[in-house]
Amino acid sequence: MNKYVAKVLEDLKSKQPWEKEFLQAAEEVLSSLSVVLDSDPIYEKNKILERMVVPERIIMFQVPWADDKGEIQVNQGYRVQFNSAIGPYKGGLRFHPSVNLGILKFLGFEQVFKNSLTTLPMGGGKGGSNFDPKGKSDNEVRNFCNSFMRELYRHIGPNTDVPAGDIGVGGREIGYLFGQYKRCKNSYDSVLTGKALEWGGSLIRPEATGYGNVYFAQEMLATKGDSVAGKTALVSGSGNVAQYTIEKLIQLGAKPISASDSNGSIIDPDGIDQEKLAFIFDLKNNKRGRISEYAKKYPTAKYYEGKRPWGLAKAELALPSATQNEIDADNAKALIENGCILVSEGANMPSTPEAIEVYKSAKILYAPGKASNAGGVATSGLEMSQNAIRLSWTREEVDEKLHNIMRNIHKNALEAAAEYGTPGDYVNGANIAGFKKVASAMIAQGF
Ligand code: NDP
Repeated sequence: MNKYVAKVLEDLKSKQPWEKEFLQAAEEVLSSLSVVLDSDPIYEKNKILERMVVPERIIMFQVPWADDKGEIQVNQGYRVQFNSAIGPYKGGLRFHPSVNLGILKFLGFEQVFKNSLTTLPMGGGKGGSNFDPKGKSDNEVRNFCNSFMRELYRHIGPNTDVPAGDIGVGGREIGYLFGQYKRCKNSYDSVLTGKALEWGGSLIRPEATGYGNVYFAQEMLATKGDSVAGKTALVSGSGNVAQYTIEKLIQLGAKPISASDSNGSIIDPDGIDQEKLAFIFDLKNNKRGRISEYAKKYPTAKYYEGKRPWGLAKAELALPSATQNEIDADNAKALIENGCILVSEGANMPSTPEAIEVYKSAKILYAPGKASNAGGVATSGLEMSQNAIRLSWTREEVDEKLHNIMRNIHKNALEAAAEYGTPGDYVNGANIAGFKKVASAMIAQGF
């Protein structure tokens, strides 16, 4: 490892040893960059790594709100504005009880490189709260969102920071957050993406992360003269990303056989078709139910309480779409023993470093989330463009743009990997291609 890289990493580990997910993400990216730092002293001279691993700004605030019994609840709110070298901060809001600063720093850091890869002018950020929308009434979710935005509105704006959804933040939450922003600012700004179509949203934005991930998987398979058609696929999660990953797999002739949530997984050996997927959409988006209900509705399926889908059935493709570190080394080995030839990440950092080592030694195709799930934020960028010109593009136009962006990310990652001596390594390729653009903007803009 390059000495400068090693020193920055060591320093980071000694300063915040408890931020495990952030250190994991930083170590992965910085390790890839050793070869770039070796080849050009300009980055070390400008202290680029030290500046990249520290967010430009972190906002932390209390979020008091009243539950349906009239009792006051208090949550913690955050926005991590990581890097604005190539555009306004852009990245989702996550509402989940596990949220803490280390997790949001990892997500914001990844977002910087991901947004750079999309080729659109977006910096990186992330935010959220340890609030859990599960089991809350619409009234409680609205109260919470109002209070959250009552503070956040002063730190964001169409040219400053444009948040979006993530785990626990879907169309309902974006609606409440946008309404409160508008009331606080008296201005109809393009300040959130993931809006509903009727009031500034983009066609294909809900589909974009899942569709984009399957497009990326197609590109990877095409390098081997292969395609997703006819292949069996394991998908985890049953939220936004999982739903549209399953839909695109069906459309392209693959056979998705699993879905999951934080309670367990279902395996349907007959495959999830469009009708069964419609059941999942309704179950998760309207009824807010649990995935176990799928197995009650469709007796061909089996429910595995407390289990992730990896290795529960034979499958050539794995598209993790739930959360970070959901595939460990044992899961990765089980995938490969069951015929897996490709892992393409819909979630952010779903594979542990040990799992990635297993993929590498088995020489399977592996795409890190910052490349393969970038379709979501790319289409958010397209939503911002449409808002700015006050026009809406058709479904076909946005899908075509998304498809092209995914092709370009794939091409740029492969080219960067080859240029720096690791052909076919999408992790190195994505990190290097993402880094170079942000670093040169930082150098050009001084300090
Ligand atoms: P949703 O909230 O819509 O769905 C998340 C899904 O993952 C749910 O099925 C949820 O189950 C499950 N899940 C969440 N946490 C855990 C956990 N700790 N263990 C097991 N299952 C869990 O979120 P999204 O689909 O939007 O996001 C999924 C992943 O994709 C995240 O990693 C996110 O960062 C990433 N991503 C999302 C993008 C987007 O556009 N939405 C863009 C790029 C990346 P349950 O309902 O039980 O909580």
